[in-house]
Amino acid sequence: MAKLAFILGIRPDIIRASLVLKRLFVQNKHEIVFIWSGQHYSDNLKEVFFRDLDVPRPTIELGATGENDAEVASDILRKLYPVLEQLKPDAALFLGDTNTVVGCIAAAQLNIPIVHFEGCWHSYDWRMPEDKYRTLIDILSDVIYTYFPEYKYQGIVGGLNPKAIVVTEGNPIVEIIDTYYTKKKDEFEKMATPEFFSSQGIQKGEYYLMTCHRRENVHIRRSFENILKLIGSTPRKIYFPASYRTQKVIKEYGVTLPPNVIMVDPVGYTEMVLLMTNSRGVITDSGTVVEETCYLQIPCIQMRKATERPQVYDVGSNVKFDPDKIEDYPPEVVLRKLESLVGKTWPNPMGDGKTSDRIADDLLARLDRPDGFRTHRREDYHLWTDRSYREDGLS
Ligand code: UDP
Repeated sequence: MAKLAFILGIRPDIIRASLVLKRLFVQNKHEIVFIWSGQHYSDNLKEVFFRDLDVPRPTIELGATGENDAEVASDILRKLYPVLEQLKPDAALFLGDTNTVVGCIAAAQLNIPIVHFEGCWHSYDWRMPEDKYRTLIDILSDVIYTYFPEYKYQGIVGGLNPKAIVVTEGNPIVEIIDTYYTKKKDEFEKMATPEFFSSQGIQKGEYYLMTCHRRENVHIRRSFENILKLIGSTPRKIYFPASYRTQKVIKEYGVTLPPNVIMVDPVGYTEMVLLMTNSRGVITDSGTVVEETCYLQIPCIQMRKATERPQVYDVGSNVKFDPDKIEDYPPEVVLRKLESLVGKTWPNPMGDGKTSDRIADDLLARLDRPDGFRTHRREDYHLWTDRSYREDGLS
């Protein structure tokens, strides 16, 4: 029986990998060891997603903790190493660009093949640790799943071996929205009562939903204050499930939120989708939320200098706001552009809804083969191979 270690650690990991995990857990030909790093641990950042999406529970919980990124990442690495050493999996899979992904160094130390789910794409905003983490794991990976050919090209230009890159021809968010929202639309309609919205201090269809958590937006005080200027420039209510990082920063800065903002703790996935689909528009710096709004035909302001998901601008579902350059993105203009998208539609650039199946099929096919994850030799793609491997010529 071949064995795959599937390592995740934050809220959007559960969402993005949910359908791949479900596919892997319904078969019993191969062993899947689902490892949770502990990066997210509270009920509303972790447990509610297992419940709402009905995702199988982790097999192993590392319980890594820390007060800052270095402590969290190093605790994950330290705790993952002995687990992988004992398990000896045929491959270790990591998703995305988080502190949990730093755990891939443990797999590298043990010469366990590394699989990167969601590789190759870049925002090229080098202030972001996420962009650096992606670069790190991609270069160490034996297999990289990337969504579109343009990302494969980015990877190759960045020095990756084309043979390591598998293009999935889509982003899993499509089937995730179809499974957890579109197929359950009746249930969502029943939940969307006037009482639900009034109990939150908002009115159906009249508010903007907001999320904001990126380090470069909240840890740079000027950028964060520019975000407050943006949201304070509309008379509409802003419903803001704020990450704990952002809540902490608001306290530290001692800033007052504009009076139209209703800040609450992070919410579960069902509630989030309910709030999103009944909003007038969304204001966010989240990567996943811009995909979700694009697929769901909800106007969205993306508060980022650069994105890994340019398709949302290609189809016109997103308005850009760079919090670092408010003079180039005046709030009234940005908000007017958002309003101009209300009621508009655009094509879906995210794929055909089969991405999760393609990834699961590929993983299972590799588990079927001996050394299925060592499909390319790094030395075959190395400029200096001929010289570093050469014989000494002496006799
Ligand atoms: N989300 C949620 N509750 C919230 C905020 C976000 O369920 O209070 C969902 C959101 O719909 C998306 C994912 O969590 O699916 C995005 O997570 P996040 O913005 O933290 O990460 P990113 O996508 O930027 O990596």
